[in-house]
Amino acid sequence: MGAPHTAHPPGSCCAPTAGMGMASKTDRLYYADSYLARFTATVLAHGAVGGRAAVALDRSVFYPEGGGQPADYGTLGGIAIADVQAEGGVVWHALARAEDLAALPLGARVEGAIDWPRRLDHMQQHCGQHLLTAAFIAACGLATTSFHLGDDSVTIDLDAPGLTEAQARAAEDLANAVIWDDLPVTARFVTPEELASLPLRKPPSVAENVRVVSIADFDHSACGGTHPRSAGGVGAIRVIRWGRQRGGVRVEFACGGRALAAFRRLSAAAGGAAAALSVGADELPAAVERLQVALRAAQKELEQAQSALDAADAEARYAVAEPHGAARLVRAALPGLSVERLRRVAQAIAGRSGGVAILGAPGERAQLVVACAADSGRDARQILQAGLPLLDGRGGGGPTLAQGGGPRSEQIAAALDAMAAAARA
Ligand SMILES: [Zn+2]
Repeated sequence: MGAPHTAHPPGSCCAPTAGMGMASKTDRLYYADSYLARFTATVLAHGAVGGRAAVALDRSVFYPEGGGQPADYGTLGGIAIADVQAEGGVVWHALARAEDLAALPLGARVEGAIDWPRRLDHMQQHCGQHLLTAAFIAACGLATTSFHLGDDSVTIDLDAPGLTEAQARAAEDLANAVIWDDLPVTARFVTPEELASLPLRKPPSVAENVRVVSIADFDHSACGGTHPRSAGGVGAIRVIRWGRQRGGVRVEFACGGRALAAFRRLSAAAGGAAAALSVGADELPAAVERLQVALRAAQKELEQAQSALDAADAEARYAVAEPHGAARLVRAALPGLSVERLRRVAQAIAGRSGGVAILGAPGERAQLVVACAADSGRDARQILQAGLPLLDGRGGGGPTLAQGGGPRSEQIAAALDAMAAAARA
């Protein structure tokens, strides 16, 4: 991946607003030495990048976003740089605050410094991608179609219908073997003749001034990005997970400092879970499996106990129901009951002669359930309609069972009273 000229985000036009005519091309110091973090340069032009004030210099170590590698951040003359973009060979340094532009006048000599930990992270992930992509080709014959380097994850997309554990491990092992062999990483601009003689992974995206980055003879890529001076600088590569994505396979991985950070996070999470279960981290899968079996058994027992409790509750309430003609009215608020349990109690009451259940459960959304025995002479829908407006609620159902709910839970007692009155009418 990577290209000598940067992809340019739409809407972030780099345009000079003041300077020495057209801004001159910037001498990109990172081409020769990607470990340069500080430099001195002259301000040549003022411009704009994506709506931010920006400056162009005669030389810069700042990497402009491109080829899948994010822009460097840092400072120029102590002024914060929040984005870097290139256009027509000019590197534009966008200021975090537009009012700082006055501190970087045309012709000024300024000291610059990049955010080195950020750059080193990008170098490790970016060069690690060269290695992993080459390793997937060498170990499995699988080509990479795209690369994404973000703050939270690094991914490549493989042109493959699927990926096995064995393939992923083979590519990971090969990439790490190259890292531990500490093969040299070199970058140079090549002539068309040299270019034709090199086994590049894919054709360069530019026609001239092609820069080739080589990891000894393991990989040759056209790339304008920044890389460690040898493969050992990548540290380590870990393939974290993969899954199907748009007809291919997306592989998430981490290199160097990110691999260490990911291992620390996982160790802390696994260690915490293992301590909570009083087992070793390696025993976690078996311990979780045992917990799931125990949980399913407990849920089944709870369900049976609740069912028996609801049946007994329905029987007790029916025994003291208010007789009204053929109907036996039960009006009750049952806090904490799910709508499923409300329905079960209501239907048990309505399963008895003349049974009419008018039940409610307060909550974030108050629930109402009405059930009527066929011989009660009552219509559950009509009774429900007497209560719903008090809850600003909605609902419906049939003559023997109706249910609904609404947000005004504090009105549930009034709603139950209104429904009981309707049932007596
Ligand atoms: Zn590269």
